[in-house]
Amino acid sequence: MDIKGVWGRALHFFFPLKCHCCLRDLSFDCQGPLCPECLKSLQEIRRPYCRLCGSFLKDGGDLCRFCFEEKSVNFKFSRSAYVFEPVIRELIHDFKYRGFKKLGAWLGQRMAERISYYPEFRNYDCVSFVPLSAGRLRERGYNQSEMLAQEISLRRGLFLLKGAVIKKKNTVAQAKLDRAGRIENVKGSFSCVSPIAAKDLRIILVDDVATTLATLNAAACAFYEAGAKEVACYTLAREIFQN
Ligand SMILES: [Zn+2]
Ligand SMILES: [Zn+2]
Repeated sequence: MDIKGVWGRALHFFFPLKCHCCLRDLSFDCQGPLCPECLKSLQEIRRPYCRLCGSFLKDGGDLCRFCFEEKSVNFKFSRSAYVFEPVIRELIHDFKYRGFKKLGAWLGQRMAERISYYPEFRNYDCVSFVPLSAGRLRERGYNQSEMLAQEISLRRGLFLLKGAVIKKKNTVAQAKLDRAGRIENVKGSFSCVSPIAAKDLRIILVDDVATTLATLNAAACAFYEAGAKEVACYTLAREIFQN
């Protein structure tokens, strides 16, 4: 072992890194922020899933009950890497609201790996993301969805489309609203600023969590105004709206 390796092990012995979720000491060779137990508890979405919104269908079938009734969706389909369960929820929360910006690269890598599970993304040329309003971006300092999209772009060799769509107004946090309120809240809140920026592109629109799909739906609409040929969504986690 070279001096760097010895030093690394000594440092690890005295100051071991902790699992981001359960605070157990991480082993020296552990990659990423989670211990093996917490990592194992992340639930990847597997087949069968809803053809439209990508949620897991425990009783099988083609569409979930929401999509069965839903008639006005602007994107082709939506898929997610994980079920929105406690460990991923905590990671997303810390990444978004508690300044743990570094989690973004690791979460983006997970998304980049998991996207290969979905052959329906094969024909897509580029990645983009749900923009934040200028006010929110100033407040947070970074757009979490942009960081995820950046990582996917890098690892999958896909072009990263920026600046075609903006978020015009600072909307109320979706989590505080019911289903109808969420749809109304984001309606018309995105706009296309460059009508040819996305011309003829098939875009993978990235966001952190999909819940009612209202945000993705409104953002997809603006990407079509920017000339997109197709828009499909991809999120880190899929939360099932219970209301
Ligand atoms: Zn842990
Ligand atoms: Zn569905």
